[in-house]
Amino acid sequence: MKKNLRFYIALWGAKAGTILLKLLKRNATFFPGKFALKVCPDFLGRIDKPKTIIAVTGTNGKTTVCNMIEDILKDNNYIFIDNKYGSNIDAGVTTTLINGANLKGKSKKDLAILEVDERSSPKIYPYLTPTYLVCTNLFRDSLMRNAHTEFISNILTANIPKETTLILNGDDLITSNIAPENKRMYFGIDRLETDGDKCENIARDIIVCPKCNSKLEYEYVRYNHIGKAHCPKCDFKSPNIDYLVTNLDLENKKMTLKNGDLEEEYDLISDNIINIYNMLTVITVLKQIGLSKEQINNSMKKLKIVDTRYSEEMVNVIKLVTHLAKGMNPIACSRVFDYVRKYKGNKSVILILDDLHEAEKGSENTAWQYDTDYEFLNDESIKQIIIAGARYLDGLVRLEIAGVSKDKISFGRNELSAIDNLRLEGIETVFILHDLYAMELKDAIKSKIEIMIKSRKDDK
Ligand SMILES: [Zn+2]
Repeated sequence: MKKNLRFYIALWGAKAGTILLKLLKRNATFFPGKFALKVCPDFLGRIDKPKTIIAVTGTNGKTTVCNMIEDILKDNNYIFIDNKYGSNIDAGVTTTLINGANLKGKSKKDLAILEVDERSSPKIYPYLTPTYLVCTNLFRDSLMRNAHTEFISNILTANIPKETTLILNGDDLITSNIAPENKRMYFGIDRLETDGDKCENIARDIIVCPKCNSKLEYEYVRYNHIGKAHCPKCDFKSPNIDYLVTNLDLENKKMTLKNGDLEEEYDLISDNIINIYNMLTVITVLKQIGLSKEQINNSMKKLKIVDTRYSEEMVNVIKLVTHLAKGMNPIACSRVFDYVRKYKGNKSVILILDDLHEAEKGSENTAWQYDTDYEFLNDESIKQIIIAGARYLDGLVRLEIAGVSKDKISFGRNELSAIDNLRLEGIETVFILHDLYAMELKDAIKSKIEIMIKSRKDDK
């Protein structure tokens, strides 16, 4: 597409707007792009783009994956543009490209890392062809945001440009089948000791073969629909994995990654399977743009999973862990619940899974609570559960349905006063599981618990 007068007006207006917003100390990561798209609806098609574009999409993990890719690239002195601090819909992507372009609309950098919301695909991919498109996974998410996985995978298949090479989670049968005509490679983790024959989760987004409707047979299930399966009646099956983790050594924090005949050892920065998938995704992507194993591993070792998502700290003899558990997202919450129950020692759990927070205006319904594996919290090692926030009664009902004994549950509308009931006797770890919109609240709860722990007399 050629640049026309309308394009230049949009570009210069957006650039002027960016300067103005920055002077006013306002957020300039969304509105400049929104303005440009309003003035010139096909703006994205007209602006020059970096030579290599890596787009990252998927239900869970896209922000973490983008952050890790960006941090490792920076550590290796790569120059690129990204929408790290911006939005992942069309206006955010447009703002990123405007900031990365000069006044003629020419791109100043050769590489872009873009997080792209799955639902924005129809507004982005007709105008922008990613060199690589990464899909971390596709799970059911908030009904309000994402409807269901078939709807999302159809949107992706219909809009991904033919020239784009896909980097896909091969352990996810929904993700691995998007845009079947495109060139692709798969990453995955070989069978683990912890994998089972049956699914323990409530939510399973693919049960029957999409080709012939026969019931799929799983060789092993890791969680939800993640694992390895085949159709007994036709040729539909999990793909062969190009980047395969063959050995996962959680004790020594190492993993072996096999690609063809090449076997490489990487250091693990987390023992959480979700983060191991994120690491694997990042390694597969960075290998495509030419980083060596040493470059990736040395830089990755310096990374921490960001504090807003996970933090841990020892306060006297008690470990205090905060963990993001996105409300309205049953898979993300279930993964966290599973992590908590398998964490060693006795623990107390505080649940602030508030889908009625002002910033989000609340959920369409509470169905997600019933897709979430609250049953995982019904565990011998979990000695107390405190549930608070606007939706605490919904959570309370759900915990009771999950069979959690009433004397283990404490609850209240006000998050901070509900903590007064926290019992620390015999507890090794206190988990604060919180929503994305409860960051400040999480910090306040954490500070309050720190004081409670420190004021205990019998503690050293
Ligand atoms: Zn079949």
